[in-house]
Amino acid sequence: MTDRECALEVRDYRVPDTEENAKICACPLCPTYDECMKGRGELLYCARASSACEVTRRGCVCGQCTVAVKHALSLNYYCASGPAPY
Ligand code: SF4
Ligand code: SF4
Repeated sequence: MTDRECALEVRDYRVPDTEENAKICACPLCPTYDECMKGRGELLYCARASSACEVTRRGCVCGQCTVAVKHALSLNYYCASGPAPY
C-alpha cells in the first residue's frame, strides 16, 4: 500500500479540519446549535465528528456557510450525521 492510499484510508473527509475553517463555520449562528454543543466547544462538524449532544433539528445553516461553498458540500446536519465524505 502506498502512503497516499494509507492517508486516504485513514482520512477520507472532504473538509480539512483547520483553525481557518473552524473560524468561519456558521454552526454557532444556527438554530440547532444549542447550549450543550456550545459548552463542549463543538464546531466544524463537516470535518470533525458528529455531536456528542442530542441533536434536535431546528434548521441547518450549512448551505449558507463559506466552508460549504468552498468545498462544494451539498448536505446538511453534519452535527447529526457526521463529516462530509468524498
Ligand atoms: S458546512 Fe456546516 S458544519 Fe461545516 S463549517 Fe459550515 S456550518 Fe459548520
Ligand atoms: S451542522 Fe448544520 S444543523 Fe448542525 S449545528 Fe451546524 S449548521 Fe446547525
